[in-house]
Amino acid sequence: MLQTTSIKDVLKNYFGYDSFRPNQEAVISNLLSGKDSLAIMPTGGGKSLCFQLPAIYLEGTAIVISPLIALMKDQVDALHTNGVSAAFFNSSQPEHEQQKVLKDLENGELDLFYVAPESLFLLENVLGTIKINLFAIDEAHCISSWGHDFRPAYTRLGTLKKQFPDVPVIALTATADKATQTDILNQLSIPKAKRFISSFDRANLYLDVRAGQNRIKQILGFLKNRASESGIVYCLSRKSTEKLADKLNASGFEAKAYHAGLSSEERNNIQDDFVNDRVPVIVATIAFGMGIDKSNVRWVIHYNMPKNIEGYYQEIGRGGRDGLAAHALLFYSYADVIQLRKFAEGTATQEVQLAKLERMQQFSEALSCRRKALLNYFGEYIYEDCANCDICKSPPQYFDGTLLAQKVCSVITRLKEQESIGMVIDVLRGAKNATVFNKGYQNIKTYGAITDVSWIDLQQYVIQLLNQGVLEIWFHENGRLLLTPMAKRILFEGHKVQLAHLGEKQKQEVTAAPTETSTSNLFDKLKLLRSVLAKDLGVPAYVVFSDASL
Ligand code: ADP
Ligand code: MG
Repeated sequence: MLQTTSIKDVLKNYFGYDSFRPNQEAVISNLLSGKDSLAIMPTGGGKSLCFQLPAIYLEGTAIVISPLIALMKDQVDALHTNGVSAAFFNSSQPEHEQQKVLKDLENGELDLFYVAPESLFLLENVLGTIKINLFAIDEAHCISSWGHDFRPAYTRLGTLKKQFPDVPVIALTATADKATQTDILNQLSIPKAKRFISSFDRANLYLDVRAGQNRIKQILGFLKNRASESGIVYCLSRKSTEKLADKLNASGFEAKAYHAGLSSEERNNIQDDFVNDRVPVIVATIAFGMGIDKSNVRWVIHYNMPKNIEGYYQEIGRGGRDGLAAHALLFYSYADVIQLRKFAEGTATQEVQLAKLERMQQFSEALSCRRKALLNYFGEYIYEDCANCDICKSPPQYFDGTLLAQKVCSVITRLKEQESIGMVIDVLRGAKNATVFNKGYQNIKTYGAITDVSWIDLQQYVIQLLNQGVLEIWFHENGRLLLTPMAKRILFEGHKVQLAHLGEKQKQEVTAAPTETSTSNLFDKLKLLRSVLAKDLGVPAYVVFSDASL
């Protein structure tokens, strides 16, 4: 490409766009100056352009690592339509096709070369002989076992930077919490890469969480005035998708079940019917929705709680893509938590999964703006409440919690941000136990700064601070608590904090009527018992879900 052409020209001539989306231009400039980048943008935010445009603009070929054959093919087809020379290489191609694209690659005829991480090692010799202008690692969360879609083959990619230290690397993903972002960069050997985090806020989504009692009845009520609207209900199991779809149909709401147990033809047909507005409601397992481009989904219901906030965010993100109002309704129940814990137990990433599940639970139990809690999870801080969630619509009673928050933050500072929630509370309350004494924490200045709040209440306040984005939790490192920029505002800039009273709403939760299954019934009682223990006897107690099998 002639360097007299500007990137704006490339944008117009090859992609047909007049302007960049948020962050695209900044990411592209960073790449063009030869530096490494991490781009976190929501799905549909325009990540591909961030590497496709420089790939065209710069001399040489961009190597794009992509996890799915279907994704590669779509992108290459789209590039061809735009007159860009691109090809993909993967194990599903016949040998002669592989040979042909390799030849094109060697001859420098390609602007972009897409390859699956599993096939990359087949190219080692070729890569050393051609001019590579950048490496793009698409869906980069796949490299982290802390992310939600770990692919072992991705972990080999760390050697790219070592082999080609002068070639800039760009990692792209839609879903990575803050700790996972760091892991991605370390593994790719680009720890200093500049991070570009686009806003994850989908202001048109109304965030709503309700207790998971009589869910079917609640759904039927919800659908009453939404007869012709498109919507998705997510369930945990195949069986419940079918059961629920049957119930909806029997009640006069046309719905189809969708899950991995159906043939791919059946699935395609259902997807087609949904996208073309022939079937308004899909009741699906999480298999549904990837790559579906439908703008007018007016509501997304989580019949069961998702296993982490990344999944929740991704699934609700399928609603309201047209920018018009859409409703995201999540049913929260302990029975689901127990089920999800069982799924996680015994897996290689059990600890992280359980910690993420706990954050999901804390989000569901939030007593302050849900959107704040959601965005904070991804490292984005908003300082105003959103006015478009169930809590903002009907907030609990708040009090000025600034002093309490300052004490919590200052203890965390003195613990050098190394300790978990339990230790932070113990130190705040001046606990006289061996773990505290062994570490000498009784000598720090803020030891015993809060003595008039019970252990469990203080824990709830700390969780509120987490949800408000004042604190963050590194669950990959023993759940240590850290301060965020918002905490610094509170400590040093007079920023005020509102905390919810732990009165009515809390009691309601504890004494809530039993949910559908007997396990959850038992569990409600267990939670009540623990909370009474903690409140009345001051015994540090948190609901330990593994006890639910008792
Ligand atoms: P992501 O990978 O972030 O999910 P894509 O790269 O697939 O998103 O882009 C989503 C859509 O946005 C595509 O149809 C793409 O052509 C379009 N798009 C990307 N950048 C722009 C832009 N600057 N202006 C208009 N549309 C854009
Ligand atoms: Mg993409």
